[in-house]
Amino acid sequence: MSIMEIFSSMEYGPAPESSAPALEWLKERQPFGLFIHNQWVAPQNGQYLESVNPATGQTLARVAAASREDVDAAVASARQAFVSWSQTPGHVRARYLYALARQLQKHSRLFAVLETLDNGKTIRETRDLDIPLVARHFYYHAGWAQLQETELAGYQPVGVIGQIIPWNFPLLMLAWKIAPAIALGNTVVLKPARYTSLTALKFAEIVQEIGLPAGVINIVTGEASQVGEALIQHPDVNKIAFTGSTEVGKRIRQATAGSGKKLSLELGGKSPFIVFDDADLDSVVEGIVDAIWFNQGQVCCAGSRLLVQENSSERLLAKLRTRMEHLRVGDPLDKTTDIGAIVSTGQRDEIQRLVDQGIREGGEIWQPSWSCPTTGSFFPPTLFTNIAPASTLAQVEIFGPVLVTMTFRTQAEAVELANNTPYGLAASVWSENINLALDIAPRLKAGSVWINSTNLFDASCGFGGYRESGFGREGGKEGLYEYLKPDWQKSLLPISETRQAELFEESEAHPVDGESLPAIDRTPKLFIGGKQVRPDSGYSLPVVGASGRVLGEVGEGTRKDIRNAVEAAQAAKGWASSTAHNRAQILYYLAENLAVREEEFVRRIMQQTGRSQAEARKEVQTGLSRLFSYAAWADKYEGTIHRPPLRGVALAMKEPLGVIGIAAPDEYPLLGFLSLIAPAIAMGNTVVVVPSPVAPLSATDSYQVFETSDLPAGVVNIVTGARDPLSKVLAEHEDVAAMWYFGSAQGSQGIEAASISNMKRTWVNYGRPRHWLERSQGEGEEFLREATQVKNIWVPFGD
Ligand code: NDP
Repeated sequence: MSIMEIFSSMEYGPAPESSAPALEWLKERQPFGLFIHNQWVAPQNGQYLESVNPATGQTLARVAAASREDVDAAVASARQAFVSWSQTPGHVRARYLYALARQLQKHSRLFAVLETLDNGKTIRETRDLDIPLVARHFYYHAGWAQLQETELAGYQPVGVIGQIIPWNFPLLMLAWKIAPAIALGNTVVLKPARYTSLTALKFAEIVQEIGLPAGVINIVTGEASQVGEALIQHPDVNKIAFTGSTEVGKRIRQATAGSGKKLSLELGGKSPFIVFDDADLDSVVEGIVDAIWFNQGQVCCAGSRLLVQENSSERLLAKLRTRMEHLRVGDPLDKTTDIGAIVSTGQRDEIQRLVDQGIREGGEIWQPSWSCPTTGSFFPPTLFTNIAPASTLAQVEIFGPVLVTMTFRTQAEAVELANNTPYGLAASVWSENINLALDIAPRLKAGSVWINSTNLFDASCGFGGYRESGFGREGGKEGLYEYLKPDWQKSLLPISETRQAELFEESEAHPVDGESLPAIDRTPKLFIGGKQVRPDSGYSLPVVGASGRVLGEVGEGTRKDIRNAVEAAQAAKGWASSTAHNRAQILYYLAENLAVREEEFVRRIMQQTGRSQAEARKEVQTGLSRLFSYAAWADKYEGTIHRPPLRGVALAMKEPLGVIGIAAPDEYPLLGFLSLIAPAIAMGNTVVVVPSPVAPLSATDSYQVFETSDLPAGVVNIVTGARDPLSKVLAEHEDVAAMWYFGSAQGSQGIEAASISNMKRTWVNYGRPRHWLERSQGEGEEFLREATQVKNIWVPFGD
């Protein structure tokens, strides 16, 4: 082609990246075995899967399809390695992570090409985004390994971690999982997605090269039904870290319920991309290209719902269609390609199915005039208008290059539409008015909010979801706690479920003044929306004291009472936006009013538990101290300003979860109750509490304290009755954001299983009572972390 011809057409010329070195590398090594204990071993069943290039349909390599026996071998290797790796000094671990990062950079081109061949994503993305971020994760976590002994004192690694990753960012997800885990002294067994194992296998090779101790990292390829299921059910795996679909996330929550395995789930999304009428529309168009056509839209946080202020919608859509007409779909190895191949023909067909359904539901489709390559698995960039907020396309994660657009008029409507999804992974806000953008960001239910930008990631900024997008964070300091547990945790012993006396340490019932006199009948009601209300059932339950005498009766709460209490707690959401100073003042005031009635609370504890006056007084005094602690924390457990490598900042804000359900423990009727409600409300949550069924009176006695302490109605709601059935209702309730349960092992399992309805966060004790009087177990950052979720608001600088 002559220069004149190029000038007249302005066509791009081809700029292909050579696949030869990667293909050569594959040819020399395949069929690939499993990477167990730093050795390549053949799968015990002799079975292999084919890895296919989705851009051509051609087979790239054969990789082992492991069986459950192979998973057993990998877990055994990780367990063996854990003994010494967890004791290896942080500095030594830091050196290994540093070496991995260096090797990743040295082989970056091979990694980028392999990823593109295997996944179909463009070389521009693998080369400029995936692989640099992978290296950054290892560098960043090398730093935490170095600092662990001083900065994370009091915590230890969790153990053997099962990690299950998806196909959309194969090596990046590997890095997000492996780097923090091994940095902190855990060992891992990682299962790559069936479609995309190749970069994980190249990574295994560099693990060998740097001489990482055998068993610290094991990579087991194969099918979900074999490898995935074996990992989640394995008794010797201490934690599962998963990224993938919400459906499988729910399956994992259910399969691990009650097992004591720690869990972090990074699931799907339907993220809003909100454009106000003062936004710079040309920048917005480029933002949209990044939001939904990056990685063919196969991104959990893809900005797949475009919400535009009505008066600028037509202008924006005109510009967008022009830009779409110029996008290039095709060979992912060509450096001028914008959109590569969909990972598999099955995924492409699924996208088509959803698009067809959208058309049937009345959506108006627009696609560019050109057509996609016919060999390989491609899908054109697609825009839908005339979409109803409740329609399939507006609600379901399509995981493809399909954008749906809706309009809004007011800010309130924008927020309403944005939050009209069960998910909560990410959001973008576009406006030249930074005041407006920073006002909208905190109102969005999403773990990451990008202002005038999109899809920004960094190892220092925790990534993860709200609501059905999962729980747990990857990256940042908050992500580290996913791979740590408090030192004291291993010392907790299970308690037999029937022996109430054990809870009260077999204490002899201590006589309480006036016990011989007949009690004045007083049946505490429930406490809902700031009012004392009768239980819906109309029944009462006796409370028997340590001496065997009936101390009184409490209302028998029902499902309906819980629903009313949740409604009251929801209605009190203004509490979240009250100032931290104000919340602190109220907690101090609660302490003050409790102190006035100290003697009464001491007596009540003695009656219920049989503890001595000195012990009961200690419980009340510690409870007062707890209220003071969380009053102190209310305005000190603050966010962080991250400086990721860009011109700008990310504001990591610690936000309340919403309504927290709490089943309080039996062992310290007042202290257990206060130790849980205080951090929850200090952070701006509202709560529905089921007090200890064996000793509920300390909680019900506190109504008067709440009523006289300026606590707004609905912030604390109390429903007495049977712990497990009431807790189950809370765990299943769609408007409850998290459930804390301190009861039996069986009850803990029930809570974890019931929580899948909206993938709420759970915090349970597996039937192992804490020593609530000890500060290390009864208060502190663990409680504050459970009461908050981190939102990162990215604010780039510059004109
Ligand atoms: P999955 O959730 O099925 O797969 C993710 C990972 O989990 C893979 O390694 C998969 O293995 C494994 N897995 C699947 N089932 C089980 C199981 N029962 N036990 C243990 N591990 C299991 O996602 P898909 O690949 O099927 O994609 C389906 C949809 O999920 C997409 O269309 C998209 O909507 C969503 N998705 C979301 C992602 C995200 O980042 N949030 C990433 C990928 C998909 P295998 O590959 O062998 O099946």
